[in-house]
Amino acid sequence: MGTNKLSINNSNSILLIAPCGMNCTLCYAYQRIKNNCPGCRIDDECKSFSCVNCKIKNCASFRDENKSFCYECESFPCKRLKQLDKRYRTKYNMRMIENLEYIKKNGLKKFIINENKRWACRICGENICVHKGSCLNCCN
Ligand SMILES: [Zn+2]
Repeated sequence: MGTNKLSINNSNSILLIAPCGMNCTLCYAYQRIKNNCPGCRIDDECKSFSCVNCKIKNCASFRDENKSFCYECESFPCKRLKQLDKRYRTKYNMRMIENLEYIKKNGLKKFIINENKRWACRICGENICVHKGSCLNCCN
């Protein structure tokens, strides 16, 4: 199994941070071995219905206006993002809006370093799965 870490030296890491501030490497759909998702920004037909039809990913701001993250939008934080943020805060202890504000203020590189530290499994060092609340790599 490959690493779930975001790479600081690889410009492709932006492909694994969704417009909403989600770190794809923590996602169960990304980490699972079978039918795994390559990441929000990577087009792939094997993605789940809910990912392909995500209203944030399909928002006109990204499709037509060439924006990269929700914080670049004049409606930030919009109702959709607030709902997502609330769901993730409550269920998974992850904060999309806070992530986005951090990226805006400190840049993607710092965010990536922080994320890899914050979510590292204490046993094997891989990023834990935010949806399961545990490490899928070593089952801790
Ligand atoms: Zn582990």
